[in-house]
Amino acid sequence: MVDSDQFWFVLFAVLGLVFGSFGTVLIARVPAEQHLGGRSRCPRCKHVLGVIELVPLLSYLLLRGRCRHCHRSISVVYPLTELLSALVFLCALFIGSSPLSSLLLAFSLWLLLLIAIIDARTQTIHDALNFSFIVFSAAHAVAIGQLQISGALLLALFFGAQWLVSRGRWVGSGDILLGVGIGFLLGGWEQSLLCLGLAYILGAMAASCLLLLKRVSRKSHIPFGPFLAAAALLTIMFGDRILGLIVPGLLM
Ligand SMILES: [Zn+2]
Repeated sequence: MVDSDQFWFVLFAVLGLVFGSFGTVLIARVPAEQHLGGRSRCPRCKHVLGVIELVPLLSYLLLRGRCRHCHRSISVVYPLTELLSALVFLCALFIGSSPLSSLLLAFSLWLLLLIAIIDARTQTIHDALNFSFIVFSAAHAVAIGQLQISGALLLALFFGAQWLVSRGRWVGSGDILLGVGIGFLLGGWEQSLLCLGLAYILGAMAASCLLLLKRVSRKSHIPFGPFLAAAALLTIMFGDRILGLIVPGLLM
């Protein structure tokens, strides 16, 4: 690694941790429709967190996952969000062809991560996060000169049709917007179709495991957002290679 590579690596890792920390505020407050301003507090005893307690990841490890005041445990979702946020920023750095495209991709993936975590926890997808995700995905597509409508259209139609047929029971309107954002992120309809397939495979695998472990029943509703998000990341990283194997000649 040359010096400038190290500079970008450290910068993106730090940005990822900082935005991961901000992300924990969003995943706690957006579903509850709370104000984003104001100091962070322990959700249990409401004690205002000090500077040390706000350091991403490190504070969780130093405090051994417990509040300094009431000693009750802190959800592992918070440090996990910080860690995953740093990882998606680094993924974006390696995938991106320029600092600008990497940064736009990093913010797109960061928003996708928060949407997935909130969907997993509350089974809701919030419009404000969805619209921000669409804006950053489209901006990234423009930055790399590959703004295409076909992927976004395919996913919007796919979820829109299910939403209409089931009158919002199978999928929510948030899934349609999420589809648009993922479509812009992935580009063409081939990548979007691959992403859908991967999401259903991941979803089926997770549902089978949860059924075997008796964590869910056959009637449980499992949110689809996290699988769609994971499939989108896999498609961004390996999509062209997978498509090259499935459809030889397509990418020639
Ligand atoms: Zn506390």
